Amino acid sequence: MAQHACKHFAHLHPVTPSARGCEECLKMGSSWVHLRMCLVCGHVGCCDSSPNKHATKHFHDTKHPIIRSVEPGESWAWCFVDEVVEELQQ
Ligand SMILES: [Zn+2]
Ligand SMILES: [Zn+2]
Ligand SMILES: [Zn+2]
Repeated sequence: MAQHACKHFAHLHPVTPSARGCEECLKMGSSWVHLRMCLVCGHVGCCDSSPNKHATKHFHDTKHPIIRSVEPGESWAWCFVDEVVEELQQ
């Protein structure tokens, strides 16, 4: 892959997941397909394959640019602003 222009990954701090599932879905009693975690604040939301797409909504609400997958064995992260995928160390 070519070099990417995203600078958001350079400014990340360790975050703690806000919930064990999608925060909003848990409140609504809804369900999700996959979980994503915001790497700015730790918000856990559901992916775009889920009915409610809370991870993407979180980005639109907060402008927090980066989410990572919290699915077992997946360590990629996604920047909404630059639309790049980054493999994380852990
Ligand atoms: Zn970026
Ligand atoms: Zn959700
Ligand atoms: Zn966030």
